[in-house]
Amino acid sequence: MKVLGAMQDWSMRVTAIIDHAAREAPTREIVSYWADGSETRTDWAGIHRDAKKIAQALLALGIGRGDRVASLAMNHSRHLVSWYGVAGMGGVLHTCNPRLFDDQLEYIVNHAEDRVMLYDAAFQPIVDRMRDRWPTVEHYICFDSGAHALAFEDWIGAQNGDFAWVEGEERDPCMLCYTSGTTGNPKGVLYEHRSTVLHALAGLQPAAFNLSASSVMLPVVPMFHAASWGLPYAGAMAGIKLVFSAVNDPAVLHGLMEREGVTDSAGVPTVWLAHFQYCDAHGLELPRLRAATIGGSAAPRFMVERLMKNGTRVQHAWGMTETSPIGTVGGPTHDWDQLSFEEKVAKTAMQGRPVFGVELRTVSLDDMETELPRDGASSGALQIRGPWVIKRYFKADEDAARPDGWFDTGDVGVLHPDGTLQLTDRTKDVIKSGGEWISSVELENAAAGHPAVAEAACVGMPHPKWDERPVLFVVKKAGEDCRAEDILAHLTPLVARWWLPDAVEFVDDIPHTATGKISKKDLRARFADYRLG
Ligand code: AMP
Repeated sequence: MKVLGAMQDWSMRVTAIIDHAAREAPTREIVSYWADGSETRTDWAGIHRDAKKIAQALLALGIGRGDRVASLAMNHSRHLVSWYGVAGMGGVLHTCNPRLFDDQLEYIVNHAEDRVMLYDAAFQPIVDRMRDRWPTVEHYICFDSGAHALAFEDWIGAQNGDFAWVEGEERDPCMLCYTSGTTGNPKGVLYEHRSTVLHALAGLQPAAFNLSASSVMLPVVPMFHAASWGLPYAGAMAGIKLVFSAVNDPAVLHGLMEREGVTDSAGVPTVWLAHFQYCDAHGLELPRLRAATIGGSAAPRFMVERLMKNGTRVQHAWGMTETSPIGTVGGPTHDWDQLSFEEKVAKTAMQGRPVFGVELRTVSLDDMETELPRDGASSGALQIRGPWVIKRYFKADEDAARPDGWFDTGDVGVLHPDGTLQLTDRTKDVIKSGGEWISSVELENAAAGHPAVAEAACVGMPHPKWDERPVLFVVKKAGEDCRAEDILAHLTPLVARWWLPDAVEFVDDIPHTATGKISKKDLRARFADYRLG
């Protein structure tokens, strides 16, 4: 006879996270700095209470299980309330990126068939512009003003909070986030209750974000981008204090870090760079953070070094919207104490190691099949699988992952024997010259080290003999000058000789995507007629 295990059914739903936080850390604070400069304070018990009220208020509007509720909002406690409340009434919160272009905003809201739009007053112009193009949206509720729509506090204030969460399956969806889509239309990634709980459990462990009850986290990474890296969920599990800012001004962030005793923060490299520049311009010290998580783009070496010199543990993380997003996170390796400071910086500038729950492998770029050794040298297409990795895009006809689970990330990297991932490029951007691969990212990073360079982007241009050859596009720093020969001389000791760009072109600007990454697609389109001789 088959013997079954004898443990309990305990549904892995997002509501269990907020119930836990309200029970175990009820008075741990959630601070919000608003766009008008005001500050409010609540706590996990308050978030729990208001999440129940928003769930009641949505049901009262006739919103039901599986329906999509959109948010167009920055980071603050009311946005957090909607994260838990929408999931708690069985709905799906669709976090929209307000930096998307109008056509993309039109596409994603219609594709998601959002029925309610919760938004910040700062985005009233977007709402006014888009209203007629969003026919599925029946209700508009403004998080922080009652001037043009129903005000959030009045709306949920009409409810008593006496509500039992809607029950359901672990595999039910709870959140929807669209990728910014460097090609074609944005694609929806539908997170489940179970995947969200597992991902948050992975996120709080020491090998990842290392959260505990003593953590005070200011997540700069927006709540509309890849679920703010899962921090508002992992933070609730650990009962941390959360400090939100609805504005990304480094002066505001710096003030909040000092005043609120922030120990941890997380953001893309440009956020950290802006913070450095603010501190330098005002003769201020960097905040003495315990840990800084950097992800979304590669953390430059000087950034890692400066934070580490300030006594901050740098958690360089790699992930994508399709992976919830945690894939790898940097932290001390087994040989950490034996490494020199320089070696520690070099290791931290790589993308860290996979947390338990995801598997990584690299395969040959030539056939996209042959698995490559983890030898710290072989560079290949990065694939990932695990319970919080996408299987199929929302409403797609076919799976995005292979039948055996492997999902092609579109990234190119090297795996080291100790598990460290080192990203070297995107599959679409890697340059094939005479049958050999050249990393466009390594050329860009090397060029960015030249003192006159503000930004550099490298793309492969068609070449009659070599198939493709690298061309470097450079934006000079204001008031600085340099010539193509200077850049090439700077690159010569840093890269293999045959990697040296065939041309260096100076441009006024380099196009970016809505999430602030260099858009090589737009750069290529701009130089569609470019020819190398
Ligand atoms: P998104 O889905 O918009 O968050 O973009 C995910 C992509 O960002 C990844 O596929 C990588 O190309 C890039 N990315 C994320 N984290 C890093 C990192 N630490 N270093 C380099 N690239 C990164």
